[in-house]
Amino acid sequence: MNKSDSERIETVLQNMGLEAVNNSEKADVVIINTCSVRQSAEDRVFGLNRNFLKLKKVGAKPIVVVTGCMAGRDKDEKIRKKLQGVDLFFPTEELVKLPYLLREINPDLPALDLGSDYLRIRPNYKDSHKAFVTIQTGCNQFCTYCVVPFARGTEGNRSLKQILEEVSGLAETGCLEITLLGQIVNHYKAPDPEYFSKKNPYKKNDFAKLLWEINKMTGIERIHWTAPHPLYMDDEVIDALALDKQINYLHLPVQSGNDEILKKMNRKHDRDYFIDRIKKIKLKKPGISIGTDLIVGFCGENDKQFADTVSLYKTCNFDISYNAQYSVRSGTGAAKLFRDDVPKEIKKKRWHKLQALMEDIVYKKNQKFIGKTVQVLVDNYKNGVCSGYSENMKLVQFPGTEKMIASIQPAKIKKAKEWVLYADPIK
Ligand code: SF4
Repeated sequence: MNKSDSERIETVLQNMGLEAVNNSEKADVVIINTCSVRQSAEDRVFGLNRNFLKLKKVGAKPIVVVTGCMAGRDKDEKIRKKLQGVDLFFPTEELVKLPYLLREINPDLPALDLGSDYLRIRPNYKDSHKAFVTIQTGCNQFCTYCVVPFARGTEGNRSLKQILEEVSGLAETGCLEITLLGQIVNHYKAPDPEYFSKKNPYKKNDFAKLLWEINKMTGIERIHWTAPHPLYMDDEVIDALALDKQINYLHLPVQSGNDEILKKMNRKHDRDYFIDRIKKIKLKKPGISIGTDLIVGFCGENDKQFADTVSLYKTCNFDISYNAQYSVRSGTGAAKLFRDDVPKEIKKKRWHKLQALMEDIVYKKNQKFIGKTVQVLVDNYKNGVCSGYSENMKLVQFPGTEKMIASIQPAKIKKAKEWVLYADPIK
C-alpha cells in the first residue's frame, strides 16, 4: 500500500515540475512515506530525520515532509513533537494538499489542484508490465496488535467504476499483472455496484465479483491481491481463485495458531476455522502456494501456545510466512489491555524457530517444481540472466535476453533452493 502511495507522491511531484535526484543533499524536497506496523519501522524514520537535520545544519535546505501511517496515527501529536526539523507532517489521505503546502514554503513552486480524493491521483507506476491498484483503504477489524485502523482510519472502498477504468487503462498500455490492494481486500464493497456486469456469476461477495470483471479484461494476464482476512474467505472468493487469470498463490494472514492468542488478538476466528478454509482453498485450487503472516511473542504467549503456531504452520504447509516479533503499538487494544511480557530473547528464539521451519518446508516443497514448466513474468535482466516470478510467486532465474523483460516466458525448472528456482528457457 505504501509503495502504491509513493507512486502517487511521485506523480504529484513530477506534475509540479520536480525531478528525482539520487542524493538527498541535492534535493529541494525530501518525503518520507512512513510505515507504523512495527516500532522498528518508526525508529528508522527518526534516524532518517536526524540525517536530514544534519543536512540542514551544513547548508542544504530540503523541505522535509513526513507522511503515511506515522502521521495518520499521531492523534496526540507526540510523534510530531519528536520529529524536530520536519517542515510538513500529514496523513496519506491529505496528499492532495501537498502542492499547496509546499508552495506556502517555496512560492516559486507551481500551483496544482488535485481535488479531494487522493486515490484519483494516477500513480507513477514503477513498471509498465505490473501495477498495484488500490481498491480499499482503512480497516474496521481492530485486531488488538494492529495500528492500521488508527493510522488509516476505518474501511473506505473505492468506486468500482474508478477501479475498472484504472485496470482497463493499464491493460491498454501493456500491463500484464495487477495486484489489487486493500487492508481487507476480500471485504471490498462496491459503492457503485451498478457497474458490475449483469452476467457476473457471483451474488454475495463484491470482491469475487470484481475478480470476475477483471478476469475477462483483454490484456491482463495475471491477477494478484493482498491482503485478505480469513473471515471473508467465503465460498465465492474461494471459487474465484479458480478463475483463469488468478495467480496460483494466496497470502492469507493468520498471526497465531493458538485459540487463546487469536482471541486476545481479536481475530474473530479460531484455528479450526482457518484450517478448514485452507482445506477448501486447496480443494478448489490444488497446487496453490499459500503464504501467511505470523506474530511471535504476543502478550502472554507461552511455550505451548507458540507450539500451536508451529503445528499450524506444519498443518497448513505454508510456502512462506512473514514472521514478526510482537512490538507494542501505542493506542492499540493490546497496548491498553495486556502486558508485553514475553522477553525479547524468547521472541527472538521463537522467530528463529519459525524461520528455520519455513525454510525447511519451502525447500522441500520447491523440489517438486524440478522438471516442471512454469510461466515467468520477467522483471529483471542482468549478465545474461532473466528473473521474475512464476504463477506460484516463486522467484525464477534463467538464461535470457534483455528483450524478455516485461513478457511472460515459459521456463523449465532444473534446480530449486529455498527462495530461487533455477530454470532453462523454453524456446
Ligand atoms: S485486519 Fe489487518 S489491517 Fe485490519 S486491524 Fe487486523 S491486522 Fe490490522
